[in-house]
Amino acid sequence: MKLTVNNISQRYGSNEVLKDVSFSACSGEVVALLGPNGSGKSTLIKTLCDLMPPKAGKVDIDGRDVACLQPIERAKLIGYVPQNVQYAPFTTVLDTVLVGRRPYVQWSYSMDDLDMASRAMETMDILDLRGRYVNELSGGQRQRVFIARALAQSPQFYLFDEPTSSLDLKHQLRTMRIMHEVVHGQDRGMIVAMHDLNLALRYSDKVLMLKDKGVYAYGRPEDVLTPEAIHDVYGVESFIMESERGLFIVPDEPSDGTCAEG
Ligand code: ADP
Ligand code: MG
Repeated sequence: MKLTVNNISQRYGSNEVLKDVSFSACSGEVVALLGPNGSGKSTLIKTLCDLMPPKAGKVDIDGRDVACLQPIERAKLIGYVPQNVQYAPFTTVLDTVLVGRRPYVQWSYSMDDLDMASRAMETMDILDLRGRYVNELSGGQRQRVFIARALAQSPQFYLFDEPTSSLDLKHQLRTMRIMHEVVHGQDRGMIVAMHDLNLALRYSDKVLMLKDKGVYAYGRPEDVLTPEAIHDVYGVESFIMESERGLFIVPDEPSDGTCAEG
């Protein structure tokens, strides 16, 4: 399947955040969405799932306008994990993950739905937390619950907004590897906003860099993530190190002595 973004623009009031953004993402590809704080990554992801309908332009999946999809159809096509998840207090982990099965349920959850939820929890290493309340978990544990919910939903396109931001090192690497395997093994698509350039280099098939309301570059990570691009987009000097485990980006201090706005 192909998710196509056609000349979309987005703004909050008079503040234009995205202008004329176009690209496409296909099944079987992990697309890392990169850019400094405030560059519009979260806004773009919300626009792709029609949580914020675009002010101009269109998003379609295999020619079907995302804005015209019924909620259940949309939930089968798109699984969104926001940067800051809203959750109902005193809901268990199991109940939260089971919500992912809602688009497929007729009357009540089947054994298959429970199975899918259990497998998703196992995959995300939270099976032993299944009876706990989501509001009583650590930020990283909670983040894994919502990724598990998306896995239980099993959509055609996963849209994740900084899914690894609260995760420890092992779970960051594990989550990215799992998502890479799901995308390639089940032929799903994924667009994932992130900040870790080395995770993007290792686990993504394509990188989309945002700058000045638009697409600065889009392509294979090893082609896009050059020291020049990293300097242009983040204002940070860096060099690329080659090792037997692949390429690594080694950043230097910001060139102007300050960090990017945001
Ligand atoms: P990123 O995810 O790349 O950090 P965002 O998409 O969250 O960037 O934000 C892009 C711009 O839109 C920023 O300037 C931010 O201040 C603004 N913005 C984000 N959300 C809102 C909102 N709800 N209302 C007004 N402005 C917003
Ligand atoms: Mg964001």
